Amino acid sequence: MHELLRNTPDLETLDKRYLFHPFTALADHERNGPMVIVKGEGVWLEDNHGRRYIDGMAGLWCVNVGYGRREIADAIHHQAVTLPYFHAFSSWATDTPILLAEKIIEMAPVPMSKVFFGQSGSDANDTQVKLVWYYNNARGKPEKKKIIARNRGYHGVTVVSASLTGMPALHSGFDLPLPFVRYTTAPYRLWEATPGMSDAAFTAKLARDLEDLILAEGPETVGAVIMEPVMGAGGVIVPPEGYYVAIRAVLDKYDVLLIADEVISGFGRLGTMFGSTAMAMQPDLITVAKGITSAYVPLSGCIVSEKVWRTIVDGQSKLGAFGHGYTYSAHPLAAAAALANLKIIEDDGLVAQAASRGALMHEKLQQAFAGHPLVGEIRGRGLVGAVEFVAKKEPATRFDPTLKIAGRIVKAALAEGLITRALPHADTISFSPPFVISEEEVALMVSRARKAVDTVMDELVREKIW
Ligand code: PMP
Repeated sequence: MHELLRNTPDLETLDKRYLFHPFTALADHERNGPMVIVKGEGVWLEDNHGRRYIDGMAGLWCVNVGYGRREIADAIHHQAVTLPYFHAFSSWATDTPILLAEKIIEMAPVPMSKVFFGQSGSDANDTQVKLVWYYNNARGKPEKKKIIARNRGYHGVTVVSASLTGMPALHSGFDLPLPFVRYTTAPYRLWEATPGMSDAAFTAKLARDLEDLILAEGPETVGAVIMEPVMGAGGVIVPPEGYYVAIRAVLDKYDVLLIADEVISGFGRLGTMFGSTAMAMQPDLITVAKGITSAYVPLSGCIVSEKVWRTIVDGQSKLGAFGHGYTYSAHPLAAAAALANLKIIEDDGLVAQAASRGALMHEKLQQAFAGHPLVGEIRGRGLVGAVEFVAKKEPATRFDPTLKIAGRIVKAALAEGLITRALPHADTISFSPPFVISEEEVALMVSRARKAVDTVMDELVREKIW
């Protein structure tokens, strides 16, 4: 044990006394306390009581190369003893962020020009909005400032990025959203398409909804649209075939930028290096975080096209200095971790592995859940999967949200030694394991999930709820 860690059996008590948890039911937490994880290896986590779990979510969709990678730890150690930090303001630079920016531009799914680094997906999406605003100010279009996001989209929790997040539950209590944000329809077949609707008809409806919104707002007021290639926290929602081609055509018609939020999909999660490639998306700006370091240290980036970059550079003579940047922008230690992480992904062929283990996961999810009486839809792409639960299948009818079905299933899964995640706005549980998951571990993950669902179904029958 490291000398800074006291060997205390009482971490739970200390946690309840001192730690303010993010996204936590705080009153419940004061009563029940935390689950304390102390160790990880591959896809396995161990808590402070020695219990082991399969991490079916790679933390929060992010520990893509798995736990315990020495190569990343060594790179962090080497950077920390060589140069832990120097900033990048006023033309200062350190070596690893330069090399990382070069690598990302080489890897980018569409031709790109520059990378602006931050710390989290949330701050990167804030930066994207500022880039769009500065870009349109520089072009002499100061009205063009509204940002369109989607219902159920997740883009973060800072004041701006929480506003982009299309989840009312994350707005109430915080006086959000900010007034410049609008929302369009999610490409959510189960609830937004009419029964039997073809992909082409559904795509046309979604593109029409977006166009109608832009026209209602006035195209001269709309600066950008932000979309996750496959929506993550909103329910693992995969758009229909042709969706982004149709969306791009609408945006081009009205001179609106497209921001691809690749915080989950960047660096392999969908079975291609970027989600934009998997989903035929042509963004002007790309947000990355999570998988860029596999979460070993925090890092995010805004990948910027030449068109936006050049306009911003030229705009400086009019607008003054580009007054934006964080103390930790282009942090050398985070960039060193990212370089080591991307080397593992490439050397070990982990993108292809995410694709093949993803295919196996979807096959197993179908075997376990297709035809299950509680299951309304099984969906996903690459190594992201989800199962949505419904009270009735025909016509699809939601459970009473106060029943918190997905939350109950996640708790039952934990008892089986599986960490999954409830996406409560969709009565959905999700799977997003590390890319290093073995075939046997995929099978074990799904069989544990199936047991958990059956346990909850038995409870619902006993409680006469179902
Ligand atoms: N965008 C997407 C698509 C995300 O999934 C997340 C995090 N789940 C974010 C942005 C926000 O990232 P962070 O939590 O690092 O601020």
